Amino acid sequence: MNAYFRPDTLAEALDVLETESVTVAAGCTDLFPATERPTLPGSILDITAIPGLRGVQQTADGWRIGATASWADIIRADLPPAFDMLQQAGREVGSVQIQTAGTIAGNLCNASPAADGVPPLLALDASVELTSKTGTRCLPLSSFVIGVRQTALVPGELVSAITIPNSAGEGASRFLKLGARRYLVISIAMVAVRLSVRSDKIASAAIAVGACSPVAQRLDMLEARLIGLPVGGVAKAITGDVVSPSLSPIDDVRGDAGYREDAAIELIQRAVTRAVEDVS
Ligand SMILES: Cc1cc2nc3c(=O)[nH]c(=O)nc-3n(C[C@H](O)[C@H](O)[C@H](O)COP(=O)(O)OP(=O)(O)OC[C@H]3O[C@@H](n4cnc5c(N)ncnc54)[C@H](O)[C@@H]3O)c2cc1C
Repeated sequence: MNAYFRPDTLAEALDVLETESVTVAAGCTDLFPATERPTLPGSILDITAIPGLRGVQQTADGWRIGATASWADIIRADLPPAFDMLQQAGREVGSVQIQTAGTIAGNLCNASPAADGVPPLLALDASVELTSKTGTRCLPLSSFVIGVRQTALVPGELVSAITIPNSAGEGASRFLKLGARRYLVISIAMVAVRLSVRSDKIASAAIAVGACSPVAQRLDMLEARLIGLPVGGVAKAITGDVVSPSLSPIDDVRGDAGYREDAAIELIQRAVTRAVEDVS
């Protein structure tokens, strides 16, 4: 018989996870469309009543985004400019209703190649905190999302938080998404850029691209190329030879691989140019 659990402590939730076969449910904005039915199948562990999993907090080490923090919570949070890209991504996730219900942790756990939360969190050096009855472990986001709809979660574990280190709180940032229309659209390509500038030169760069590979990618080669360049000509240095090797776009109904690659390069150029304007 299917059951619905809605505990109000993390300890109770972990007990349920260990003893029952359940699906973890947060905002359900991915779970419900996937069922195409009026009810979710199987037993459900609803984690939205656990106060300790809510909200966005600044800690001594950085920032902690609770597992049930919604996109609306992120958009409203008082965060430094390095997080502008995450808030900009949030404003483009679905509609206001979806942003109110949907969680950023759910976006990561769903592990869609087009998940808009992944590139900004990669560019913020985010880690994912996983908790089970046996303890807590933290994985860099790049090791948490491991394939299309695949994560490193093991049975008995849930995501309890997303953490961002103090070192990633520096610089200006931008998120740009290309879809077939402006809102309520799945990304054809999206980019997140965080940069800092010193003496008119790029001092640090974190750049990630989504929807152009099974899992969104940081562009290490491009980041290395940009560091030390004068801000004036930086967009010209963003070329296919240092972008394309990190990407493996697919052809689908939204765009072919070549279009996605060109779009990613153009979006990075625009996002970098705007981030440079913000810090100059
Ligand atoms: C109309 C519409 C428009 C959308 N537009 C966008 C968009 O523009 N961009 C975008 O990226 N997404 C979009 N989405 C997808 C969705 O809204 C987001 O991915 C959202 O962030 C998912 O969060 P959720 O809390 O609703 O997840 P849920 O549906 O509750 O869960 C999603 C998955 O994560 C698991 N899960 C959730 N929380 C945890 C946890 N703490 N620990 C372990 N597993 C967990 C669930 O078991 C499930 O497998 C859209 C969806 C709809 C319906």
